[in-house]
Parts: sequence; C-alpha cells; structure tokens
Amino acid sequence: MARTTWPSCPSCGEANVEVLHEASPDADRTDATLRCKTCDQVFKDVLEKQPTQAQVSAVISEGSQSRSTSLDVPAEDPIAVDDELYADGRRLLVTAVERDDGRRVDEAHPDDLGTVWCKTFDRVELPVAVNQGRKTWSDEIQAQPEARFFVGDEMKLEGVDVEIHSIKTDDGIIHDGEARARDIVRLYGWTEYRETEEENW
Ligand SMILES: [Zn+2]
Repeated sequence: MARTTWPSCPSCGEANVEVLHEASPDADRTDATLRCKTCDQVFKDVLEKQPTQAQVSAVISEGSQSRSTSLDVPAEDPIAVDDELYADGRRLLVTAVERDDGRRVDEAHPDDLGTVWCKTFDRVELPVAVNQGRKTWSDEIQAQPEARFFVGDEMKLEGVDVEIHSIKTDDGIIHDGEARARDIVRLYGWTEYRETEEENW
C-alpha cells in the first residue's frame, strides 16, 4: 500500500508535506497531522492509501496438471497474453486472459480481469527426433526458455552422441544458425552411427 495524492497545505497551497502523525497507520483511510515543508504550517487532513497490488484469479498449468490460485499483480498494469508473471518464485507465461464478463481478450486491466491462464515457464520441453541409421527415434529434453540451440550442437541422448542438423521453429525449419528454446517446436539430430554406416556403403 502506498499513499496516493498528498493534501495541499491550507496556508500556501503547496503539496509538499510530511506526516507528523497518523491516527490509524494501517487503515486505508486515516486522519493525519501534517506539516507543510514549504511554510511550516501544521494541519490536519485525511490520507488515503491506494493498493499497489491487485489480486487476480489464475489457473496455472504445469505439464498436464492445472491448479486454481490467486496472483498478486501490479494494480496499474494491464495483463496481456504472452506477458510473464512471477508467483512463488516460479516464472509464468500468460496464455489466455478472460475479463470479468467472461470474454476472452488479448489484455485486461486487473480491475476488469476475470481469470488469467498461465503456464509455468521455468523450463520448456523440446522434442528431439533422431536419425540413427535407418531408424528414427524421439526423445525430449528440457531447457531454459532463453537457452539457445545451434545447428551443429552435440548432445548425449539415450546414451548416444547426437548432432543437431535442423531446428523447427514457429517460423519454419532452420538448417543453419540458432533458435531460442521458447521458439523451438522440434530439434532434428543424427548420430555418429549414421555417418559411419554411410561411410561403409
Ligand atoms: Zn504551506
């Protein structure tokens, strides 16, 4: 909670005051004794507090699990799809916003917000398709959303060395270059075994 507008001095009109005493310091609204720092006038007025945090209903998905909770968000800022929020030390990504009239919208002010849907965003899961000789098998790795993957990266999957040869993102397939984990749909790799087998043809 923070003070919003400060009362003006009844003597000189400046809103340059300090609080000498609050009758109910924890109340949203309290009588207070104030001193004008411009002209030294001491006077009484009412101070109001405005919440800086708003509480909104949220549904948080983590993998296949979801739970309903409430989140503290800044009272003045709209919440939009793709915003990042934090709760209990977890990083969240907003996936949908519903107003209190039940309409799905791209963004809403906390005052008008019904429910915000989020997913945990500490880590993303990346499927990997691996060519091993004539076989293709799949695995999944976890990564920080901002982690970068490059064509040519090597990793150990299922006990074998795999080299990434292409990266599928929301925008298409990359055969050269890099992508952030949060944008990656699938990684494609091959194994040493494949190259050895080709050499043996
Ligand atoms: Zn004054």
